[in-house]
Amino acid sequence: MARVFVFNRDGELTGPVESPDWQLTDAEWRARLSPEQFRILRSQGTERPFCGTLLDNKQSGVYVCAGCGLPLFSSDSKFHSGTGWPSFFRPIAKENVLERPDESHGMYRVEINCARCMGHLGHVFPDGPRPTGLRFCLNSESLNFTPSDELATLADAAAEQNAK
Ligand code: FE
Repeated sequence: MARVFVFNRDGELTGPVESPDWQLTDAEWRARLSPEQFRILRSQGTERPFCGTLLDNKQSGVYVCAGCGLPLFSSDSKFHSGTGWPSFFRPIAKENVLERPDESHGMYRVEINCARCMGHLGHVFPDGPRPTGLRFCLNSESLNFTPSDELATLADAAAEQNAK
């Protein structure tokens, strides 16, 4: 079980609630994702900078995991980093984004993953703006965007645990 924050039917973020981990086979993931999404989310890939569809998105709303739909980031914390990848200074809830050391490619970095499906999102670096000083560097392909006035469409069954 993942302990995460999800949206309820009123479009409000609620939690932490227990939500079952997503454990799909590669074949099942390939059936759900585009080839580029599979390469990034399930094989730790990185998209080319300045190409992602969400890089310049300035709409108000929420960015969810392209694999399992878990809410990950809010437009409130999006900032222009100049790196060519969508950047945020904090996740929508710290429970929803897991961090783990990544020593691939001869570098020490901190990988970020979706807490529910463990999809690869990007990396977090300690050179972000205030108030956190963190830069969560995302692949657009790892994210889907939902505008603020449609958050009720993200309603998750797990939210009902808190509805009583
Ligand atoms: Fe996910």
